[in-house]
Amino acid sequence: MLRVVVLGAGAGGGVPQWNCGCDGCRAARANGHELYRTQASVAFSGDGEHWFLINASPDLRQQLNAAPQLHPKAGALRHTPVAGVILTNGEVDAVAGLLSMREGSPFTVYAHEKVLAILASNSIFNVLNEKIVKRQPIGISEPFEPKFPDGARSGLEVVAFAVPGKSAWYLEGKAHPGGESGDGDTLGLKVTDKSTGKCFYFIAACAEVTDALKAEIDGAALVFFDGTVWRDDEMIKAGLGHKTGKSMGHVAMSGADGAIARLADLSLDRKMFLHINNSNPALLPDTPERKTAEAAGWQIPADGTEIVL
Ligand SMILES: [Zn+2]
Repeated sequence: MLRVVVLGAGAGGGVPQWNCGCDGCRAARANGHELYRTQASVAFSGDGEHWFLINASPDLRQQLNAAPQLHPKAGALRHTPVAGVILTNGEVDAVAGLLSMREGSPFTVYAHEKVLAILASNSIFNVLNEKIVKRQPIGISEPFEPKFPDGARSGLEVVAFAVPGKSAWYLEGKAHPGGESGDGDTLGLKVTDKSTGKCFYFIAACAEVTDALKAEIDGAALVFFDGTVWRDDEMIKAGLGHKTGKSMGHVAMSGADGAIARLADLSLDRKMFLHINNSNPALLPDTPERKTAEAAGWQIPADGTEIVL
């Protein structure tokens, strides 16, 4: 049995974003916590006791406190069910939460060498003692079985694949610590429970829905997909920025090349948008955009949503 918990469904900045007065952020402040979204992360477990995180968002501490599945077990003075963190990119909203995991519990950080190079080049991540917190490189299309801190096998298989994207925003125009060539900056993940064969996909950043990507995910029980923006130019139109979704490495939900249209002909049991920006009108209930997404079979999950496969 594969349990998956949405720790956060928001994009960088979350909802509401601390310095934002857009419609989505104002609605969230006015409606209590119902519309709040922390920054994108998912936890999964094959045994319900040991959990692996996909990305460590800046909201990680809040997310761990909000998820009973991830609390220390009763009676233990120091304990965490978190056995590992798998990083899909080196953006701030994927790695900053590692700094909140520095209290000496053993776990493993799994990431592509390009992302590990970013961690290695930023000495602040040395707060994670490498004797206790191992860093394990993962290769593209090389399946691996994440292990528990005692070395026991998890019974799960994870395989990373390259998706169209870009390197971390803060590295734009600068030398990449992991080199400029090749893939590895933006990964999608396939997670499979080896005992049941059930799997889910995590693709929280994707600049383009290619035919190869469609073929990869067709038939999956669950897909989390990049839901950053509804329209490619929505941040510009709303006066929130000067970048398109595509220039930030995110395909829009809508439009002929958007995720809803491009993935419509696939056989997917459940499909959820993740990494939803506060500018995206589909975040708000009762908007035409939300209704369009839901009519196409997509869910906009609340933080804390658990799915069992
Ligand atoms: Zn906003």
